[in-house]
Amino acid sequence: MSIGGIEAGGTRWTCAVAGADGELDRVESFPTTTPAETIGRAIEFFTDVGDLEALGVGAFGPVVVDRSSPRWGTITTTPKPGWADTDIAGPLAEALGVPIALDTDVDAAAIGEWRHGAAQGLDTFVYVTVGTGIGGGVFANGRPVHGLLHPEVGHMLIPHDRVRDPFEGSCPFHGDCLEGLASGTALRARWGRPGEELDDPGVWDLEAEYLALGLVNVVLTLSAERLIVGGGVGLVPGLLPRVRVRLRELLAGYVEVPQLGPDLDRYLVPPALGPQAGIVGAIELARSLI
Ligand code: ZN
Repeated sequence: MSIGGIEAGGTRWTCAVAGADGELDRVESFPTTTPAETIGRAIEFFTDVGDLEALGVGAFGPVVVDRSSPRWGTITTTPKPGWADTDIAGPLAEALGVPIALDTDVDAAAIGEWRHGAAQGLDTFVYVTVGTGIGGGVFANGRPVHGLLHPEVGHMLIPHDRVRDPFEGSCPFHGDCLEGLASGTALRARWGRPGEELDDPGVWDLEAEYLALGLVNVVLTLSAERLIVGGGVGLVPGLLPRVRVRLRELLAGYVEVPQLGPDLDRYLVPPALGPQAGIVGAIELARSLI
């Protein structure tokens, strides 16, 4: 028997199976196209594998993660064309006939880091991914926080100095929320080129400013024991050191703990599992069912 996981991201889906030892022994990744085609490819992958015992899904959102809701497993208000109000858990359960555990893609990544990566042994921490969008998996007291739906760290509102940065913001819901100002989509819209092609230090100072403004609110609200920042933009070399400097300045010594002072290098860190955090976490979600 094997257990399966899907990192169902807005840009790519990754499917994997793992044996009892947890090692991934088959992995396949494909672009997120239409719901029917994408879910169909995942079903094909696991049908091919056969002998599946349980499936864990880390889905892009917003997605209904409340198991008691009739809309459990449905992606709701996403701006991604064709995906609003899409039930992803239903078709997978029907086609594969196995129990399914589902959480957000960022909660799955947080679970991966908690079990095997940079958050081992912690109770309260946040995993933030800065890529096409910005998302955050929030762990408090040893479990993911869901609440009304789930936290949306990427859409928090932060100060926006329009003299320094006249860009209106790219979030279709809020304009200049954190994601609207600092996601890969925002970088491309503001500067006319993708983040990986931008090497002006001013670009990355501004990016660090916004991320630090978002993260200072996370630190102060949750008293997080660690911040893990990943994603294609989050992992751009040299960005996290800039964010650490601004984060420390913004906190201004108010929270007097070593993690926010001399130990900040070990407090604000990249994911130890790198881009595999999400799929490893999805497998862990499945493992929780058996
Ligand atoms: Zn927003």
